[in-house]
Amino acid sequence: MSLIDDEGPAPLTTFVIAVDGPAASGKGTIAKGLGEAFDLPVLDTGLLYRCVGMTVKAAGEDLDDQDAAQAAAVLLTADQLEDPRLRTREAGEAASRVAVHPRVRDALWDFQRTFARQEGGAILDGRDIGTVIVPDAPAKLYVTASPEVRAERRWKQLKAQGERVSKAAILADIRKRDARDGGRDAAPMKPAPDAVLLDTSEMTIEAAADAARRIVEAARARWLSSHEG
Ligand code: C5P
Repeated sequence: MSLIDDEGPAPLTTFVIAVDGPAASGKGTIAKGLGEAFDLPVLDTGLLYRCVGMTVKAAGEDLDDQDAAQAAAVLLTADQLEDPRLRTREAGEAASRVAVHPRVRDALWDFQRTFARQEGGAILDGRDIGTVIVPDAPAKLYVTASPEVRAERRWKQLKAQGERVSKAAILADIRKRDARDGGRDAAPMKPAPDAVLLDTSEMTIEAAADAARRIVEAARARWLSSHEG
């Protein structure tokens, strides 16, 4: 059963920024930068799927077992998202495996929608924020970069966390994850029709964050003028 009732979700009245894109595109850093620039709380929704994946693994269950993954998703709480183990390569892979299950996605919908609807506005980054979770968000970005650039970024990040892994293995992970996330039936990763595309392949992260801020400023001005009076 879907958590979205027949009448659909209640309309959004606050300023929400949806930041979607593939693994290691820079969307997390961009979302954090936007959070500081616009003084809005940020939810990294990848952590929800990472947490479900690692909970299933810790229980010795199969990541392909939708019932086990749904049970972990239903019981998920915000404090579980602080665990640094969720940032590992293993957690990223487990996340993408449980993220294909429609009932896991449904179970996590409410958590994300509640975060999005908080007073004052919010930022969410993920794969389906602009298409499924907050399709009515007034500002949407789809952040991309070439697989090679993303692999280089992810490799540096994992190295800084103390994980030893080759760049070739990371590139293979990224290609596999792109294919799984983009090819699944349930909420596949894709830009919303009204998202602004931001390719960060040739940009420093500072330049990308700056470009994102300008895109959101323009969206905010439009949103404010449509809410005046
Ligand atoms: O963004 P991150 O790399 O942490 O996401 C881990 C995995 O979680 C993704 O590869 C994807 O399969 C899944 N995910 C998703 N929908 C989201 C966020 C993440 O399916 N909104």
